[in-house]
Amino acid sequence: MATAVHFEDLTELVDTLNYAQKVERSLDLISDAYGRYGDRLVVANSLGKDSVAVWHLAKRVSPQVRGFIITTRFKPVETVEFMNQQVSRYPELRVYRSDEVLPDELYQTDPDRCCEVLKVRPTRRAIEEMKALCWVTGLRCTEGRTRTNFREIEERDRGLIKLNPILLWHEREVWQYLAINSVPVNPLYSRGYRSLGCAPCTRIASGPNERAGRWLGTSKCGGECGIHTRPLKAGAESPADYQAPSLAIA
Ligand code: SF4
Repeated sequence: MATAVHFEDLTELVDTLNYAQKVERSLDLISDAYGRYGDRLVVANSLGKDSVAVWHLAKRVSPQVRGFIITTRFKPVETVEFMNQQVSRYPELRVYRSDEVLPDELYQTDPDRCCEVLKVRPTRRAIEEMKALCWVTGLRCTEGRTRTNFREIEERDRGLIKLNPILLWHEREVWQYLAINSVPVNPLYSRGYRSLGCAPCTRIASGPNERAGRWLGTSKCGGECGIHTRPLKAGAESPADYQAPSLAIA
């Protein structure tokens, strides 16, 4: 059975666990959480490679697992088509989107605000409407500079467990898992993208940083949309409401 470990040990596990051990650990983490939270566990599916790997893992634990997708008016057409395929195959995936009116090109003038409205708020709504007590993400600690300080099991918002079951996986291991299990992926990867987001804010980038093509040329470059850094419980929108991370499952 997988257990929560100290942060220092996590970084060591990234390179000491082999592929099969990581898959087993991820399945254990999801299985333990599903046993505890049942239908109140929901998987966040961004339609990127990490999310579809986690979705596949969760479905191995239970075909009944539910999930949600946050889409925006700026998603590339390929991502929208892939989303439609996923939703028709898995009707238990709910789609959330904000149609709030925004200033033109807000993604250039204030991308943080744009992400807050188009991504973070719909995520809050999904978590509230699906009555989630535990949400599952595809976050990985080797993905970039902003993703090194997470744990497999967190409680960033009081009363809402965040499970990051593939936190320890390398990018190569995600592709290994998807290939071995013949999991369909967003066609944008075949064009060279390594991290997918909205069209105006995503470029094909080179170099070691997997997320380098996100918000390229802005202060947000390689950064986060906010769903992993902002409070997610409805009504907790100000930084003062942010709950410090703590482990809820030992
Ligand atoms: S990724 Fe860009 S377009 Fe999409 S919500 Fe964030 S700032 Fe807006």
